[in-house]
Amino acid sequence: MKYDITRDYIEIGNSRPGQSNDGISFIVSHDTGNPGSTAYANRNYFNNTQPFASAHTFIDDQYILEIIPLDEIAYHVRTEVTGDNRRFGNNANEAAIGVELAYGGNINFEEAYERYVWYHAYLVNRYNLDPDSDIIAHSTLDPSRRTDPQNALHRNGLSWDTFLRDVKNELRSEFGVETDDSDVLGEAIALPIGIGDEGPFVEEIQQDLIRTGYSLPLFGADGIYGEETENAIMRFQRRYDLKVDGLVGPVTLDKLNEVLNEGGTLDSFPLPSGIFQQGDEGEEVKQIQRALQQVNFNPQGIDGIYGPNTEDAVRRFQSMYAALVNDGIYGPETRRFLRMELDDRN
Ligand SMILES: [Zn+2]
Repeated sequence: MKYDITRDYIEIGNSRPGQSNDGISFIVSHDTGNPGSTAYANRNYFNNTQPFASAHTFIDDQYILEIIPLDEIAYHVRTEVTGDNRRFGNNANEAAIGVELAYGGNINFEEAYERYVWYHAYLVNRYNLDPDSDIIAHSTLDPSRRTDPQNALHRNGLSWDTFLRDVKNELRSEFGVETDDSDVLGEAIALPIGIGDEGPFVEEIQQDLIRTGYSLPLFGADGIYGEETENAIMRFQRRYDLKVDGLVGPVTLDKLNEVLNEGGTLDSFPLPSGIFQQGDEGEEVKQIQRALQQVNFNPQGIDGIYGPNTEDAVRRFQSMYAALVNDGIYGPETRRFLRMELDDRN
């Protein structure tokens, strides 16, 4: 094997209940969210503090460290989120391995990243998983509260897509497993990015912008850094007192991440209570429109006016759910489903 795996399990306690899981059907990729904290620092923290949270494996530039046996439960995703049940028919804590990337501080990112990529490939091979569907980012499962591991990846010019490609390449070169596009090399992008750049990295930044409330009404997250994206970045930079240059470098990435972590989807997309319908106007209608746009039921503009287009978007949204009446009127039930959809979004 290219790397050693160190197995140094923590004591049974809150972090490690010592119960068997249901077998492994997917992987949840995390970063520690704590720059400079090494794999062993994490192990010691969970061993000594025993919070009701954990993950199986922590990876830095020195260690691939399994702190909980892979056939046991670890608490790395909130059980309330539903994306794991919907996609995999089970809670992540019961059926997924949680893998954490340690980064920042004195940790050599390249070394840690190579181990992280290799370990994902190792798990995919060992558990006979599909790298396209069975590796999922924590941020995808819990978008209202989490930004990992894209936070650590983006800081180093890597997109989620690039990471998956790297895993597939590793699968082929180290484990002899071919996947349809395993010959396409992942490539880090040089920061900062700006007008003229394109690709999955740009697309992920655009998705982050939209999530923080900077809608891109003309082109959306199309993976092309054009004027609309530049303008949104400049508005973002102005709002948070950053240098307004329209370029996305480490400072802007950190702020984006901070805003996503603080507010996340929940605060960025507040939903009014009460009943709203055609003829209504105001800030609350804007909130409804923003939320509709976020879940891809475009109300054709966020103007605060509940007109025919907004009514139509509400009606289209309602038609997705048997429990909702398709009347184009926003009320408590529509609000409830909209909230659910926002919280579950990837
Ligand atoms: Zn996580």
